[in-house]
Amino acid sequence: MSRRFAAFVATGVALAVVAGSLLVLALGHEPPPRPAAAATQTSVTPSPMPTATPTLNAPPSTPHRPAPNPTAAFATGNKKVLFFSFDDGPDPYWTPKVLQVLRKHGAHATFFELGAMQTAHPGLREQVLAAGNTIGSHSITHPQLTAVPAAKRHHEIFDGPASTCFRPPYGASNPKVRADIKAAGKVQVLWDVDPRDWARPGTPAIVHNIMTHAHNHNIILLHDGGGNRAQTVGALDKVLPLLKAQGYTFPAMDC
Ligand SMILES: [Zn+2]
Repeated sequence: MSRRFAAFVATGVALAVVAGSLLVLALGHEPPPRPAAAATQTSVTPSPMPTATPTLNAPPSTPHRPAPNPTAAFATGNKKVLFFSFDDGPDPYWTPKVLQVLRKHGAHATFFELGAMQTAHPGLREQVLAAGNTIGSHSITHPQLTAVPAAKRHHEIFDGPASTCFRPPYGASNPKVRADIKAAGKVQVLWDVDPRDWARPGTPAIVHNIMTHAHNHNIILLHDGGGNRAQTVGALDKVLPLLKAQGYTFPAMDC
């Protein structure tokens, strides 16, 4: 077969594929649903209402929108890992401070950002990503999603920061919130350890809380937005070397 004829055939095949795709689009055709992967469902805890000690809530992958478990890739073998997360930013003063401390200790984290903060402070999102961290969505304006009309809930979940991870404000979730998160192609990510840094209990208290409660594969909740985060930054600078000495590494979640 000559090269020219091969090219002609290839073009014909490509045109046929395009035509077929257009036909599918015109007909509004969707691929038939595949059976749910039972094997993946058994390994995932059903998603309850948030409790006093929320845990990572990763629903099983769906046939139409494969949703990753953002910590799964790191939860293998004997490797000790902790996932630090920072909510309510990006903040033009505190986010760079957090980035600086993470860099100092060779750590990475996931930043659950607000769409409104991203818009108000352009460029920070890029700084977070450039340093090897990942970004999750924390909605646009931080409403309690279980207490707003459906259209508002939908908008906050679908139109917020681009990410496959979504953390509902206040950890407030219910079946409708979870359904919207799933439909948006995201996975709900809560946390395991809440040192209540947002209440500013003092740097030593935040350090003590993390050192007492953090176990392998846990997600730790901290904040780089929403107010003065000097205590958070100070605590991070103390716990990272202590935890590193225990053998932990600090990867960013797959978001
Ligand atoms: Zn928040």
